[in-house]
Formats: sequence, C-alpha cells, structure tokens
Amino acid sequence: MKLSLGLLPLFFYGIIQAGTLNQLNKEQAPFKLPELGYKTSALAPAIDEATMQTHHGKHHKAYVDKLNGAMAENKSQISLLQILKSTKNFSMAVRNNAGGHWNHSFFWSILSPDAGKSKISKELAARIDKDFVSLEKMKEQFEKQSLDIFGSGWAWLIVGKDGSLKITSTPNQDNPLMDVVAPQGRPILGLDVWEHAYYLNYQNKRADYVKAFWGLVNWQQVSDYYSEKP
Ligand code: MN
Repeated sequence: MKLSLGLLPLFFYGIIQAGTLNQLNKEQAPFKLPELGYKTSALAPAIDEATMQTHHGKHHKAYVDKLNGAMAENKSQISLLQILKSTKNFSMAVRNNAGGHWNHSFFWSILSPDAGKSKISKELAARIDKDFVSLEKMKEQFEKQSLDIFGSGWAWLIVGKDGSLKITSTPNQDNPLMDVVAPQGRPILGLDVWEHAYYLNYQNKRADYVKAFWGLVNWQQVSDYYSEKP
C-alpha cells in the first residue's frame, strides 16, 4: 500500500508532462503562443518559410493576443478545452480566438519535416480501413471536404462518440470540440484551408496545397491522438 501511494505522484506527473495537446487543453489565461517544434523553413517546399513566419508569428499570435484581451473581461479561470466546450456562454471574440489558438496549436503539432519517417499505428490503420475502406479512400474524402469548404475554415478527421472516424469541416475558427458545432468529436487530423495558410505559395490552387499537406503529416502523432496519448 505504501509503495503504490508513493508511486502515485510520479504517475500523475508523467501524465501531466505527457505532451503538448494535453497542456494546450489545460491552458488557462494568459494564453501563450507555443513554439513550433521545427524551423519555419523546415516544411518547405510544401509550406514555404514566409507563409510559416506570418502564419505562426502574426496570425496565430493575433488569436492568442485577442483571446487574452477577450478573456480579460471574464473573471472565470477555466481551461481552453472548457472554453471550447462552452462557447455558448462567451462572446464571438472568445469563440473565434479560442478556436484560432487551439486549431493552430493542434495543426503545428501534426506537421513534421520528417513526416516520411512517421508510421501510422496498426490500430488507426485498421479503423481507417473499417470506416473508409482504405487510407487512400480516406485521403480522397478528406481532400474533397477541404476543397468543398466555401470561404475560410478547417477540414477534420475526428473520432465520434461511438468511436467511429468521420471527416467533417467547420467554418472560420470553429472546431469539432465546440458545443455549437455538429457533429462533435475529437480531432486527430486537421487542415487549415484559410487563404492565409497557402495563398503566398499556391495562390488560388487550394487543391495543390491540400495534396502537398499529405507529405507533412506526422502519422505517429495522429496515431497517438487516436489512441488518446496527447
Ligand atoms: Mn490559419
């Protein structure tokens, strides 16, 4: 008994320190712009350095700053995930900027310059085969969803409440964790299709950007999110 109680703090310490998504979900005001896990030039040519510098350093930073501004009027100290799950109780500024902060932090985390070396887990591959027939078919459907988004938004691969995978999209900076979004689910893959994400390099050719995105996807990270190892 003494032994197990003694090990308990280590056990919890391990979970809390486990990773970026867990920390992101638990983050409270004042929110901070996270570091990228790679250089802004590291994703080129799929995503060029100038786009990454502006996207992370200006756009994402603006969501963080505006979220802090909007939450300053709000005395409640709640986590980012709790904000997303209760956006009905907040202003549009909180909804847009909390979504913007979460979505971009998540997006950076599933990209990698070494994506080619990353492997999808057997567990996730099997579930994709079950719900989409094959990884290739899932990618086709995800690409179609990305191209069908009118205006600014995000395409997502989510785990629904029944455990099945679904491809969805949200407008603006909404995401499938939000109380106001249907269908809801846990994102394990997401793609920013706002023009600021690709226009410098691809202009109006969103389809080329979406194709290039696959070369950056860190399937190990996506698999970990699927297995709820954030
Ligand atoms: Mn963006």
